[in-house]
Amino acid sequence: MFSALLVIDVQKCFIEGGSLPINGGRQLVPLINEMLHNYKKYFKKVIFSLDFHPANHISFASQHLNKSVLDHVTLNYDKNGAFKFVQTLWPDHCVENTTDSKLADELNFEIDDVTLLKGTDQNIDSYSAFYDVGRFSQTALHSILTQNNIKNVFVVGIATDFCVKFTALDANYLGYTVYVVEDLTRGVSENSVKEALNEMEQDGLFVNLNICKKN
Ligand SMILES: [Zn+2]
Repeated sequence: MFSALLVIDVQKCFIEGGSLPINGGRQLVPLINEMLHNYKKYFKKVIFSLDFHPANHISFASQHLNKSVLDHVTLNYDKNGAFKFVQTLWPDHCVENTTDSKLADELNFEIDDVTLLKGTDQNIDSYSAFYDVGRFSQTALHSILTQNNIKNVFVVGIATDFCVKFTALDANYLGYTVYVVEDLTRGVSENSVKEALNEMEQDGLFVNLNICKKN
């Protein structure tokens, strides 16, 4: 039985200087590199996801009349309107093929690692590296893990309360044993991080794994 490390959205857009910077994002880069240096041999696959949106993506506030960043809109995604998702609106971020969308500088990506794009459909957001928010379509992640007989996934990255959480919950939904390495994640706000950690814990995930030395 094998393990994979999922490095979620450690991209220029989500660290200081990017289009949607998350506090402490840049600090994660050396910490994740250190983890890879010390523990990479335990992972059969290391997968780096990238938020990768068309310029007119539905999650951008700029695409909605009279809406601002962090407003919410309720979107119907299926034909009969049964599936609704309350979409948080974001600044334009991680636009495909821009410098902003690239992995953070200095992140230790190696030739045998995998990159995985998400959020590429203009009409629906994807916080998770597995599915869009409606689970209507999925990325190659589940099949890559299945082909490699991977049963355990360790999740690190950005943001704890969005893409890390949705990825971890989807991994659990798909039957993986899920570990969220809490101190290798950074979130949008302290409160929603706390709620996200609780939600993941209640779903049966292991969320209190910390590998950095505490001062
Ligand atoms: Zn996004």
